[in-house]
Amino acid sequence: MTFPIKVCIVCAEEFELKPDKPGFANRCPECSAPEAPDPTTQRPMDADERKAEMEANEARRQAIRELLYSRK
Ligand SMILES: [Zn+2]
Repeated sequence: MTFPIKVCIVCAEEFELKPDKPGFANRCPECSAPEAPDPTTQRPMDADERKAEMEANEARRQAIRELLYSRK
């Protein structure tokens, strides 16, 4: 059985459009692969991490406050 040949809209390479191909029908398998998530923006924080960050922020604010007041 042959599959229809499509041209990838991303890299312009021809590829076989297989029925079970994941991702977009107009992208080759390589370009259908999910992009690597950006660890700095995409990473979801869990409750513990959020709490730790809040505490870190609070500690930072406190440190800045002390720094400001000690300058008087
Ligand atoms: Zn492609």
